[in-house]
Amino acid sequence: MTRSLGGAELATSIRNDASVAAAALSEIGVRPKLAVVQATDDESTAWYVRSIASAAKRTGILCDIVDLGAAASTEQIRSTLVELGHDPDVHGIILQTPLPDGTDLDALREAINPAKDVDGANPVSLGRLVARQPAFAPATAQAVIALLDHHGISPHGRTAAVVGRSTVVGSPVAHLLVQRNATVTVCHRHTTDLAAGTRDADILVVAVGIPGLITADHVADGAVVIDVGTTATADGQLLGDVDAVAVDGRAGALTPVPGGVGPVTTALLLNHTVDAAGTQYAQTRSESVLAGFRSSV
Ligand code: ADP
Repeated sequence: MTRSLGGAELATSIRNDASVAAAALSEIGVRPKLAVVQATDDESTAWYVRSIASAAKRTGILCDIVDLGAAASTEQIRSTLVELGHDPDVHGIILQTPLPDGTDLDALREAINPAKDVDGANPVSLGRLVARQPAFAPATAQAVIALLDHHGISPHGRTAAVVGRSTVVGSPVAHLLVQRNATVTVCHRHTTDLAAGTRDADILVVAVGIPGLITADHVADGAVVIDVGTTATADGQLLGDVDAVAVDGRAGALTPVPGGVGPVTTALLLNHTVDAAGTQYAQTRSESVLAGFRSSV
């Protein structure tokens, strides 16, 4: 029997913590606020963004959806991000993908103020993560580790395989697993024998976006499999990268899609926003104390 590693319970507990912290900040006049910038007509993206906004509301966090439309230019998106970066009332910024064809995503990620980069998209955040310095990790990557912890699965001394090397999921997950003392293999689109890279791993993390890519041949007996993939179908279904029927009985544990990594990711984004609000408040206060001190000497 393959154990199901659901994310709902963990997501609720992260949201509860965030909501307690948000209430404490509100009492001192700080209302945590998240801005989500989107520029697409894609319905599944709109659905995802609305689900973040409603979870934010329930947690006591304000959420602005800044919809620039599917024809937005890189410059329009960039200047919006810069503006939000300067807005003292905004504490967290998410740049939602997909973006219009031809958009310079790298330039946009760099335009996110690192102090507000709650989804760890700016290369500065990623660099700090790799250098093991405090930074917001990409929420999906952190959700993978949080789910393992929550279900009592330690990466320490284990072998892990990560399929996918994107900067938002695969690469940061691989780094976080190494930081948790796993020995990690990273597979990607140029890996000639995918099964050879994955079938001995104690922990298998898949973040590719190809439904059903992972079958029983890719999975070690008893392995823990974390399915990050979410591909929306025309009829509104959400499909993971793992063929759950094929790996049933072989994998020791598997995250469901939906209901696994996804809800934990959303909860972490909210948690990061409250953290960012607290840090920004503390910084403004220490700056004003310092200014007062300077003017008094
Ligand atoms: P995400 O950011 O959601 O992980 P991307 O599209 O940015 O999605 O990245 C997809 C990743 O999946 C890439 O790192 C790519 O190399 C990997 N990938 C794509 N196809 C395959 C495949 N057939 N086998 C293994 N990895 C793949």
